[in-house]
Amino acid sequence: MGLFSGKKGLIFGVANKNSIAWGIAQALHAEGAELGFSYAGEILKKRVEPLAASIGAPFVEECDVTDDGAIDTLFAKVAAHFGTIDFLVHSIAFAPSEELGGRFVNTSRNGFRIALDVSCYSLIALAKRAHPLMANGGAMVTMTYFGAEKVTPNYNVMGVAKAALEASVRYLAWDLGKDQIRVNAISAGPVKTLAASGVSGFRKSLHYVGQVAPMGNIDQEDVGQAALFLLSNLSTRITGEVLYVDGGYNIMGAPDPALMGADAKEA
Ligand code: NAP
Repeated sequence: MGLFSGKKGLIFGVANKNSIAWGIAQALHAEGAELGFSYAGEILKKRVEPLAASIGAPFVEECDVTDDGAIDTLFAKVAAHFGTIDFLVHSIAFAPSEELGGRFVNTSRNGFRIALDVSCYSLIALAKRAHPLMANGGAMVTMTYFGAEKVTPNYNVMGVAKAALEASVRYLAWDLGKDQIRVNAISAGPVKTLAASGVSGFRKSLHYVGQVAPMGNIDQEDVGQAALFLLSNLSTRITGEVLYVDGGYNIMGAPDPALMGADAKEA
């Protein structure tokens, strides 16, 4: 018997085997969960289907989360296939590449709209359709980043979108708490994925965080374990929270002086 034996849920945001969502899916599968997957577009189908098949998950459906009609169609299929569900994983973000570098003051109206729509509103849109299927209560988890709270150069409008996402987690937790549904976020440290590669200077940031964080860089498996906790009964009555899975990076006020260059003279 696993922690998730008899539990069913949906995973949004697997693009390939490096996706954080795939790390979460593997952790849930290892604990006996029955999973359904949704991917963004036709191009991803050939990547997501074999991954889902490798863990015996036949439910794999396309859904662009910016399209309310597509979300309705998807959830009609979810209801027909699963009946009820116990959890939902939202691991989706997007901003046009030109917004993920350069001066923040140049953020375009359209880039702002797209980033907030795909990366934040989509959680609300999915929660709206998922909560009626969580007849016995449930749990939702989304993925955020430290750039929501503190300036992370080049993360730019995505930092604003993640701040809105974290606020949405709290409002959803308040609203859906009435239905015994918990909503939490994981603030993950940098992980080399498709989405992360779109942020200018990502490789340098990854290296820097690996040096500064007390426990170094994280991986998808670390996030998967935290998601197990937040989606399971181990976290009963924990809701509206942001849980850091970042090797401790967020507690640091300054890097260890030993990491500073030889040209940094003692005061
Ligand atoms: P990823 O593998 O590229 O996953 C991002 C997913 O979002 C992809 O499956 C992508 O599909 C999907 N997506 C984008 N637009 C969509 C749309 N309109 N409809 C449906 N799905 C859409 O990258 P990841 O790093 O695992 O990202 C997952 C989450 O973790 C994101 O919220 C990200 O901000 C967050 N996060 C990542 C890091 C990191 O360093 N990697 C750190 C903290 C938080 P397409 O590929 O088709 O666009």
